[in-house]
Amino acid sequence: MAQKVTIVSRQQWGAAAPKKRETLKGSAQRVVIHHTALPRCKGQKECMDRLVSIQRGHMKDRGFDDIGYNFLVGGDGAVYEGRGWGVVGAHAKGNNHDSLGIAFMGNFKNDTPSTEAMSSVKKLLQSGVSQGFLNPKFALFGHRDLGDTECPGEKLYAALPQLRGTT
Ligand SMILES: [Zn+2]
Repeated sequence: MAQKVTIVSRQQWGAAAPKKRETLKGSAQRVVIHHTALPRCKGQKECMDRLVSIQRGHMKDRGFDDIGYNFLVGGDGAVYEGRGWGVVGAHAKGNNHDSLGIAFMGNFKNDTPSTEAMSSVKKLLQSGVSQGFLNPKFALFGHRDLGDTECPGEKLYAALPQLRGTT
């Protein structure tokens, strides 16, 4: 009964190969929601360019093995594959080994997340549960619940209850 969600693959957005890839042990128990804290991108071309630059920043400047997040979502509801399912991310220090990191593209300190993005993430979570990548009883957090950060921004943080529960 999980709704279908279309994911723009790494190949489609032109991702560089990861330096290393660590498999998550078992299904993810927690979901951590982030924002990129960058201006929102409009349309797939602009979002894909943004993804390439985020990945470059994470790998070159921050020394990560790959783009930090497992998935990212654009304001139009397009979902982009980051590290993807079943892979340990680099998004919430000390909390990466049992979780899935999803980033909303944009800055949600003052902006409200779009209904399209919210609905896509809900579908993505349902799809993760139905494929066994995500525990059906997963707990969902904002990054700020787990670390000293404003992430995912006031407005997105306030919207998180809408993402809890998969019904
Ligand atoms: Zn974050």
